[in-house]
Amino acid sequence: MENVITAENMRLYYGEKEALHGINLAFPKNQITALLGPSGSGKSTFLRSLNRMNDLIPDVTITGSVKFEGQDIYSPKMDVVNLRKRVGMVFQQPNPFPFSVYDNVIYGLKLEGVKDKKLLDQRVEESLKQAAVWDETKDHLKESALSFSGGQQQRICIARVLAVQPDMILMDEPTSALDPVSSSKIEDTMLELKNDYTVAIVTHNMQQAARISDYSAFFLNGDLIETEATQQMFVNP
Ligand code: ADP
Ligand code: ADP
Repeated sequence: MENVITAENMRLYYGEKEALHGINLAFPKNQITALLGPSGSGKSTFLRSLNRMNDLIPDVTITGSVKFEGQDIYSPKMDVVNLRKRVGMVFQQPNPFPFSVYDNVIYGLKLEGVKDKKLLDQRVEESLKQAAVWDETKDHLKESALSFSGGQQQRICIARVLAVQPDMILMDEPTSALDPVSSSKIEDTMLELKNDYTVAIVTHNMQQAARISDYSAFFLNGDLIETEATQQMFVNP
């Protein structure tokens, strides 16, 4: 199976402290991989090193390699802005920009220089539909994204990531700040998206991992201690 991202013997240091001790993990195309483990085990640190979000934290050192479509993302040649478009990120707290739903969704396309109004309109509709928030937003596209509920805001953020048609989506506990109804809508969305995207999701919710993921990777104290097909894991021996 083709892998979108492959981490090989990846170590990450915050200053002197080694937070990840040589992680080997590949993300198979069109599959959902859940990153599981107790708080502080390194899940978010690992997730953020897959699209260089760690660049934002001072004093981080990484050894080993992380390859995206065969290219080492920590190589000086890497175009980091493009990488973050190809490998999009959804955070725990919904973080729409303080402008309209429409302008949120087209943000990445604007950065790419897309000006064709018809194309922008089309991409807005498509992305909001894919993120299962079109019905609630279609008559309010010019309203501030901040006027929507937390669950709707999170789906608008997912639409914003989808609008640039990334290859991979990184999600850091995307439903843990949400009510059960919104969470389950986002889970449904993720299952729908599977045919088009590759997903890595940090979750502390085993039921969620069982419902949506194809693979489960367990972190403990900065080590990856086990990776298995999720179906195998939840079968009693
Ligand atoms: P998890 O996502 O599993 O809760 P984290 O990746 O957030 O774990 O944290 C892994 C370890 O790295 C923890 O010991 C945490 O305190 C440490 N850590 C996380 N972020 C930073 C940071 N910016 N600076 C220093 N240490 C950090
Ligand atoms: P979560 O468990 O939801 O990933 P954390 O509470 O571990 O969140 O971390 C929240 C923020 O604090 C993150 O940006 C992380 O990088 C930073 N952080 C976590 N642990 C440390 C630490 N020991 N020193 C400095 N920053 C940290």
